[in-house]
Amino acid sequence: MPTGIVGEFLDLKAETDADVLAMQCGDFYEFFADDAELVADELDLTVSQKSSHGSSYPMAGVPLTELTPYVKALVERGYRVAVADQYETDDGHAREITRVVTPGTILETADDDARYLAAVVREWVGPGAGASASEGDDADGPYGLALADVTTGRFLLTELDDASDLRAELYRFDPAEVLPGPRVRNDDDLLGAVREDLAGSLSVFDAEAFAPGRASHAVRDQFGRETADSVGVDSDLALRAAGAVLGYVEETGAGVLASMTRLTAYGDGDHVELDATTQRNLELTETMRGDADGSLFETVDHTVTAAGGRLLREWLTRPRRNRSELDRRLDAVEALAAAALARDRIRETLGGAYDLERLAARATSGSAGARELLSVRDTLDLVPSLVDAIEGTELADSPIAAVLDRVDRDRAAALRDELANALADDPPKTKTQGGLLREGYDDELDELIASHEEANEWLDSLAEREKRQYGLSHVTVDRNKTDGYYIQVGKSVADQVPEHYREIKTLKNSKRFVTDELEEREREVLRLEEARGELEYELFEALRERVADDAELLQDVGRVVAEIDALASLATHAAGNDWVKPDLTDERRLDVDAGRHPVVERTTDFVPNDLRLDEERGFLIVTGPNMSGKSTYMRQAALIQLLAQAGSFVPARAATVGLVDGIYTRVGALDELAQGRSTFMVEMQELSNILHSATADSLVILDEVGRGTATYDGISIAWAATEYLHNEVRARTLFATHYHELTTLADHLPRVANVHVAVDERDGEVTFLRTVRDGPTNRSYGVHVADLAGVPTPVVDRADRVLDRLREEKAIEAKGGSRGGERNGDGDAGSDTRQVVFDLSSGSFAGGSDRAGGGTATANTAPEPATEREEVDRLDAETRAVIEELSDVDVTATAPVELLSRVQEWQERLDENR
Ligand code: ADP
Repeated sequence: MPTGIVGEFLDLKAETDADVLAMQCGDFYEFFADDAELVADELDLTVSQKSSHGSSYPMAGVPLTELTPYVKALVERGYRVAVADQYETDDGHAREITRVVTPGTILETADDDARYLAAVVREWVGPGAGASASEGDDADGPYGLALADVTTGRFLLTELDDASDLRAELYRFDPAEVLPGPRVRNDDDLLGAVREDLAGSLSVFDAEAFAPGRASHAVRDQFGRETADSVGVDSDLALRAAGAVLGYVEETGAGVLASMTRLTAYGDGDHVELDATTQRNLELTETMRGDADGSLFETVDHTVTAAGGRLLREWLTRPRRNRSELDRRLDAVEALAAAALARDRIRETLGGAYDLERLAARATSGSAGARELLSVRDTLDLVPSLVDAIEGTELADSPIAAVLDRVDRDRAAALRDELANALADDPPKTKTQGGLLREGYDDELDELIASHEEANEWLDSLAEREKRQYGLSHVTVDRNKTDGYYIQVGKSVADQVPEHYREIKTLKNSKRFVTDELEEREREVLRLEEARGELEYELFEALRERVADDAELLQDVGRVVAEIDALASLATHAAGNDWVKPDLTDERRLDVDAGRHPVVERTTDFVPNDLRLDEERGFLIVTGPNMSGKSTYMRQAALIQLLAQAGSFVPARAATVGLVDGIYTRVGALDELAQGRSTFMVEMQELSNILHSATADSLVILDEVGRGTATYDGISIAWAATEYLHNEVRARTLFATHYHELTTLADHLPRVANVHVAVDERDGEVTFLRTVRDGPTNRSYGVHVADLAGVPTPVVDRADRVLDRLREEKAIEAKGGSRGGERNGDGDAGSDTRQVVFDLSSGSFAGGSDRAGGGTATANTAPEPATEREEVDRLDAETRAVIEELSDVDVTATAPVELLSRVQEWQERLDENR
């Protein structure tokens, strides 16, 4: 076991579960042994060797004042870094770990994004747990979730019903670090899913911190009993998660606990359900490929402040259901969109704002320096200009003015004045170097400074005086660490010095002397220097604390700046892109006149399309060839819905938007296959989640269902899902499918309607018109695409015939239809279902109470399929095999070249068989 400095390092390292330790050794922080190698690898530091008691260890170090960027870089790479500081003791010095910097608790972050630390808990099963906790560990939820952004002091808690809701929430907030509670930690499935969804790290933290008693104590201590009660934290689980977050922040010594004053508890009631898959599918903050470029956020983001950007992102990923809040935002956007000049002025003013939410956190944690306080001053300075730009213009009566009213302007002005009077204009970066404060701020400090400068002047002019008085040439006065102040005289004249000079050192070309007076002056200068430094630091700390006391004011101003910025950003985008204010309604409808896709319209000559979904027509089956624009049309519907519920204008000529409680999407296997993440199982899980979660107030987007399996399986599932969504769930639904057969459901299920994306087809050339029209496509496009891809005509014709034949094999029962029967909403659809049979060969219904006049449906179809089947049976085995392979081919997912070669092979096999 090494002793000495390396031994001490390793002992300290053993105390912490951090990945890396930085230990102060005098003016440096050193990393030894494995840590030195790691740091050298990651950060390009040079490794040297440290000998310690006969052995040699790798060592790397950084100067004391330069640790922060290194720690930051390590933490950004996912490491937890412990810092051990050195302090004086009676017999020398000692070292101890003072903080552990982790991805979720680092204050100095690289970007403007919110940076959350999250804790997740499930039912407590430790000592004192109630009876309900005894259920098996595989029971899903509920979960408590707490999220804290240490850089801004924001603190959120909630309870979630199940793992899928939890994942949606984690995906939305994208925490940098997650603390799984004692039971969550053992849930490999959940942890696996979280790891896949998030880039953040998972950290194991003391299970006791999640215990109910300790957690509620921690929360009360932090926020005060009243706050905890008044924000309505009635979820024990959420409280426990909060307790763990607080415990963790305290233990890692980030010192930012004090900034966490803003406890917000939220429940499900007010937000639109948006699961993780849907957030991804709709490309809200990143594209399916993972780029920020091309996401909805990036497209509509014109914010000029970091906090504004954070807020806008939150609005888009957490759309609301609260009508009055949405109307307020929309009215504000409307006013701002119309007031171009005032808007420009506001944005210009905001451009000078610093990130007050973060500065408040730094002031409370004690890490803010003079420059940060200057930023506070400069930002508060903007308030009056902002007031001018709003109250002095046509915006005076808009909700924007009301936003501004949330700032206590007098208090803001008072703090601003105090800072302006206290801080020097161009203070140094460090707090200990002096020069932080303005002259006239404190009389005592001014006096000290005056005396200090006077004493310094005396010293500065001493050399000149001595030269003159004693006729000496070559005299300088200087100071160093060992000798203190001295008079240095050149060798040639050293024997001419007066008697009261006392020699202290001989150098090669000169001698150093001191005098009694010089020593006395030296003592005085040092005393003044120290007193000045101490007093200035004290005054500065008091000022910083003064700012910390007003942290809430700063956060208020910060929030107001963020909100005005976000609203102005939405207005800027609306005005620049011809977006309109949506009419919000509580009716179940989505009516869009000439709608566009908010992102695609930026780069394409976009063809606008209408959309009508309401109680009579709540389920649209969207058909059309591949690449015709089906999925764009459906996503555009979802995005218009989402934008309206974020409080934004929408890309359309006019839109009436009924508020939804959730938006659910499931996107075709093709898109996802490209990312290598889809399996049929995933597809079915997503479908299952939608069928379970959606309600009559939801919007559902299905872009292909059942593609990942054999045709008949797929069509059956798509068919049944349509019936279920139509009859039971009754959600507003858009369903794009390549199963042409489904289009006939519109004849039978009352609220189902067909739309198709039109193409113009002439001489085998297809032009995509991008226009959505009522009614189904007039043909099945699988074989059609084969035709387009250049598959020889005999094969295409044959495929058409084969397809017909295969269809004849089966007839499908359609459930739930009763044209003109029960109407909207709450009727008991299930009990009113009638049976009919859809004959795939004729493409029509046979039977059903309304159409075939009775329930003897199946009888009608019996004879013909029998004969057809006989015909198929008569075919030889090889031909049947070819037909089977042909019908199994997913034409759209196979490259044309491969299709060609397979077709060739089939032809050869058929030829041989003739
Ligand atoms: P599908 O889902 O039918 O395969 P997509 O929705 O993916 O087709 O659209 C195919 C292409 O057509 C996309 O590149 C898209 O940009 C373009 N597109 C879709 N709708 C429109 C439209 N209304 N106007 C202009 N281009 C469009």
